[in-house]
Amino acid sequence: MLVLSSPSGAGKTTISRALLQRDPNLTLSISATTRPMRPGEVDGKDYFFVDEAKFKAMIEGGEFLEHAFVFGHHYGTPRGPVEAALAAGTDVLFDIDWQGTQQLADDQKLGKDLVSVFILPPSTAELEKRLHTRAQDSEEVVRQRMAKAADEMSHYAEYDYIIVNRNVEESVASVDAILLAERLKRERQIGLSGFVAGLRGNP
Ligand code: 5GP
Repeated sequence: MLVLSSPSGAGKTTISRALLQRDPNLTLSISATTRPMRPGEVDGKDYFFVDEAKFKAMIEGGEFLEHAFVFGHHYGTPRGPVEAALAAGTDVLFDIDWQGTQQLADDQKLGKDLVSVFILPPSTAELEKRLHTRAQDSEEVVRQRMAKAADEMSHYAEYDYIIVNRNVEESVASVDAILLAERLKRERQIGLSGFVAGLRGNP
């Protein structure tokens, strides 16, 4: 389970897309949210767009691995698709905030499978520029997000890895390196003891 968090505009979406494109063993967890759909977004691809009542029912039904209130809207990670992907041996990428990351990290079962990466923008000026360029949100929302960014970035120390996104290609290569190293960890290599026993002529 690979979590990528960052303040809006730090380049997280671009990095996630590139990772998913080049790594067939990585799938994206699609969150449910009560926030309105933005132009260009597709229901079931970017998010599952649900109303408050449905979201509440999903909480009560135990359907979320984690959920949080972010920028005035609810967001949550549906449990089923993640569990199915993990059971099939596929790694899962999560684009969630620090609150969700904490919930996953605190989970007895899931915590040890979690690798968390926080992406920082190279500067405040660059962050502001990216938020304006995106221009999908109103000026008011951009201002709110700039204010929230400082708050979100205060949680960087809760993450395993930090990437300063100066260059997208380099950042993608950095996440690739993290993924590779984490996949090579002994405890993540299933069937290793049998394999080594075979190598030693002692199956
Ligand atoms: P946006 O509305 O810009 O798509 O996302 C706003 C914030 O909500 C981002 O920081 C994103 O990482 C976070 N987010 C998206 N989905 C989830 C989720 O399922 N759980 C949590 N905790 N945060 C989420």
